[in-house]
Amino acid sequence: MKKTNVVKIGNKVIGGGNPVLIQSMLKLPPTDYKSIIKEINDLEMLGCDIIRGTIPNMEAAEVIPEIIKNTNIPFVADIHFDYKVAIAAIKNGVHKVRINPGNIGGKEKVREVVKCLKDYDIPVRIGVNSGSLEKDLLEKYKHPTAEALVESAYRSISYFNEFDYDNIVLSIKSSDVTTTIDANRLFSEKYNYPLHLGVTEAGAELTGIVRSSVGLGTLLKEGIGDTIRVSLTGKSSDEVIVGKEILTSLGLMEEGVRIVSCPTCGRCKTDTLSIVKEIKKKTMYIKKPITVAVMGCAVNGPGEAKEADMGVACGNGNAVFFEKGKQITSIKTNEIASFILERIEERIK
Ligand code: SF4
Repeated sequence: MKKTNVVKIGNKVIGGGNPVLIQSMLKLPPTDYKSIIKEINDLEMLGCDIIRGTIPNMEAAEVIPEIIKNTNIPFVADIHFDYKVAIAAIKNGVHKVRINPGNIGGKEKVREVVKCLKDYDIPVRIGVNSGSLEKDLLEKYKHPTAEALVESAYRSISYFNEFDYDNIVLSIKSSDVTTTIDANRLFSEKYNYPLHLGVTEAGAELTGIVRSSVGLGTLLKEGIGDTIRVSLTGKSSDEVIVGKEILTSLGLMEEGVRIVSCPTCGRCKTDTLSIVKEIKKKTMYIKKPITVAVMGCAVNGPGEAKEADMGVACGNGNAVFFEKGKQITSIKTNEIASFILERIEERIK
């Protein structure tokens, strides 16, 4: 992993080779703070490390202390257009602000925000986005290319550096996966600022999951990226779950129940999908790393089940259960999920 600058965000640290952290964004308006507090605490249980919420006005900035008082993970304020809201959010205790210097109202206003960031010793994330590239860069490059996005990032960094401020995290996002990959590679070759990775407007469900996984996975495998956010048109909890899957797939996180399951074929006589879904749903909050194999028949079943911490190879009405590489017992296929869940509980104890 590339050694980027270390940046402290509340009680978390990113950059410098520290573990890649998972972020998500709240989808509720900030004034609905009771629901937000519950959502943040649920997301933390699921594995979310940092949460971001939009703070569009002063009314929203005023509820920040209440949110922070009742949650544990760092809260990042997402602010556009009004520098006074950014200053109010910082004074009210946010752990990082995400702004775009291009739309905050000019240099003097950026200077005011920087002064406050310094006073409260918190970082900023500069978010460069293909949808809001400066007009002159669009004219120069014709499209929001990787080079255009990196030049925009450089311009924004200069704004802050001019005021002697360097506590910066960068994100360079495009809705085009290859542009996101190219831009982050290019930026990473030139700068040491920690990168918050994401494919913006990735889409809903499978489309969003695939685009995010390809974009983030490619970069992370090259050692690029210090924190990730999977942007889905959907629930924040899904963003966290997909983020965890990406990190565990790459061996960047060893946490939680990892299920290996075969795709099934004409040999399979068991509804393995229901079994997998039930185990997944009921083990979502477990932190201990445990691998479970659910295999449809005896062809590859015993091999995979033996490699996992525990697993089953299903037959016709019965399944062979393996644990720590050894065949332990035979169980009825309609009892597989409950049997495995019990064994997982025992392991956690
Ligand atoms: S393990 Fe068996 S059921 Fe599953 S895909 Fe392979 S052959 Fe088919």
